[in-house]
Amino acid sequence: MRAFQLVGWRQPPELREVPVPGPGPGQVLVKVAGAGACHSDLHIMQAPVPLPGFTNLPFTLGHENAGWVEQLGPGVTGFAPGDPVIVYGAWGCGGCANCREGRENYCQNLGGQGPGLRGGHDGGMAEYLLVPAARYLIPLGALDPRQAAPLSDAGLTSYHAVKRSLHLLGPGSTAVVIGAGGLGQMTIQILRALSAATTVVAVDTDAGKLETAKRMGADEALFSGDEAITRIKDMTAQQGAQLVLDMVGIDPTLRMAAQVARMLGHLTIVGLGGGALPVDFSSPPHECSVASPYWGSLTELMEVITLAQQDKIKMLVEHFPLQRANEAYQLLHDGRIQGRAVITP
Ligand code: NAD
Ligand code: ZN
Repeated sequence: MRAFQLVGWRQPPELREVPVPGPGPGQVLVKVAGAGACHSDLHIMQAPVPLPGFTNLPFTLGHENAGWVEQLGPGVTGFAPGDPVIVYGAWGCGGCANCREGRENYCQNLGGQGPGLRGGHDGGMAEYLLVPAARYLIPLGALDPRQAAPLSDAGLTSYHAVKRSLHLLGPGSTAVVIGAGGLGQMTIQILRALSAATTVVAVDTDAGKLETAKRMGADEALFSGDEAITRIKDMTAQQGAQLVLDMVGIDPTLRMAAQVARMLGHLTIVGLGGGALPVDFSSPPHECSVASPYWGSLTELMEVITLAQQDKIKMLVEHFPLQRANEAYQLLHDGRIQGRAVITP
């Protein structure tokens, strides 16, 4: 089969011919319908040095996957060939306390492994994906897996980041989303769906993204910079927002996040832009909690799928065949993907 693989550091991934894997005991082979192209993949491709844990080059990219069950390994029950499924991508040990709670994103033994990520497992930018355990498959029901694939990361990461702060989002509250790309657009819709009373402010550098953010339910869409800071302060009686989500994570966005967060609020860093948040006694504001969540739990992915089935969240998807995957990443790099690029074999 054809697979889009990272073959070396700081060089473009290549489409290569590889064998179709066979599912061993407990494993499931999935026929891939779509694999989302996440900005994290660009961080991986552009890393100046080999990243810790990314040892097994070449490996197939794609950690945001959905498709149809193709073949069940010995002992697997509960699924049948042809079932549409989304693949939970944080693959833990299954035995530690966090894994047993479904929080395999915070596995205490294998933290951060997954398809197309740390650990050397092949990802979904191929015709087939080998999934190590059936518990990672969530049935999609009537959802189209080509459309649903980004829910497993852009959807799940955004959902987890919002849900942990939901207690702050009462009537009159404000949430700021910095970066309205793939994750940011999901975050805006999730904020709308989970907290109807919150004023949602989107911030981006791109006019098209700000338009999209408004269509996705943002009350205000502001160009990134000092004027946005002033506007958010004015909107919140100079107090700042209860929740600030930085989906970019570079120095200027982190600085902005600290300036528009309020005392006792949450400043949540989702973007892996490599910036640093300056911290002193009064900035971020007093008792504002800072967190850097990674992905989400298995049960949260089930909740995300329910929201999509209820038509409350929907990813804006552009499809690219495998042979155009490099072009899709170039467009993502250049800021020219309006929502999410999904690679289809
Ligand atoms: P994307 O490229 O689709 O979106 C990024 C958006 O940020 C774009 O709309 C861009 O215009 C905007 N932007 C760039 N500079 C900006 C600035 N200075 N101010 C405001 N907006 C700006 O990327 P994505 O796939 O949505 O990923 C976003 C980030 O989240 C990436 O860094 C990615 O690696 C990270 N990520 C983190 C997790 C996690 O678990 N924490 C999971 C997935 C992705
Ligand atoms: Zn574990």
